[in-house]
Amino acid sequence: MNKKAIALLSGGLDSTLAVKLMLEQGIEVVALNFKSPFCNCDGKDREGCKSHAIKVAEDFQVDIKVVHKGLEYLEVVRHPKYGYGSGMNPCVDCRIFSFQMAKDLLPKVGASFIITGEVLGQRPMSQRRDPMFTIEKEAGLEGLIVRPLSAKLLPITIPEKMGIIDREKMLGISGRSRKEQIKIAKEFEVEDYPCSSGGCLLTDQNFGRRLKDYFGHSERNVWSEMKLLQIGRHFRVSSDLKVIVGRDEDDNKKLLAFKGNGDTFFEAAGFSGPVALAKGELTEEDRELIGSIILRYGKVKDDEMPSVEYQNGSSSGNLTVTAPIEESVLDSMRI
Ligand code: SF4
Repeated sequence: MNKKAIALLSGGLDSTLAVKLMLEQGIEVVALNFKSPFCNCDGKDREGCKSHAIKVAEDFQVDIKVVHKGLEYLEVVRHPKYGYGSGMNPCVDCRIFSFQMAKDLLPKVGASFIITGEVLGQRPMSQRRDPMFTIEKEAGLEGLIVRPLSAKLLPITIPEKMGIIDREKMLGISGRSRKEQIKIAKEFEVEDYPCSSGGCLLTDQNFGRRLKDYFGHSERNVWSEMKLLQIGRHFRVSSDLKVIVGRDEDDNKKLLAFKGNGDTFFEAAGFSGPVALAKGELTEEDRELIGSIILRYGKVKDDEMPSVEYQNGSSSGNLTVTAPIEESVLDSMRI
């Protein structure tokens, strides 16, 4: 065992402090940041978690690897062995998956153990004592995960036993309060980068509902569909048909970009209204229904005759819309 470790670095305060505590002990650190379509704050600008992780790595002068969780992760989210939290967040399985990826990377970067910013009792699902041990065991990393923020409250790890890490120089923080971390951050002059948009989309109830609907109606794991779940208003018309309606110009552009083979794209014609993307087989009745949904979200002037144009591959058409859909019908289809 050597003095080199992989640190899971989200870019938030806890993982930043964990890296700092290890660097202070002379541990060589390679940072590992995970990308996934469920991360609500891995923006391309400097405001996102991914960017924060890169900034932290730059500040600390450590190497960083940004790794996409891949389609396999989607299968984990679909069928989690340890179930979901309050949303569609399979935190225990997610942690196992992430640690396994880190474990695979250990020999490649010549590191011997893993560091995380986890705090005992901070998160209800994955950061309680028992799940933490389950996660370690399932990932095949027993004794090899060092949690510098809570280390004094947890069993001694192999790097501590071997004298590579001094247990006394680590911390004994537990619980959800972040007071202690903020105090230590000040001492270390480390900046806090709160994720303003909330972090993991899988914990979001609205997103969770859409994801559950997707899993219930499609056997295929497709990354782009995960992005599509974040755009517009979603309606389940039937088990074979879902309709997504843009909320603004930005959504409208994105929906057009997401149009895949077999999808039908609807646009308001002769009045100002959103676009709609229909995924599934359409009957004439379905097309009329979609027209009435577009009209519901559109604005018609007195002298305008609302209609919608639709296009699917080489076939296209136009239909007149007479009335907006009833609110109660629309609500019954809302995902
Ligand atoms: S909150 Fe999301 S990213 Fe974090 S462990 Fe849970 S599922 Fe994974």
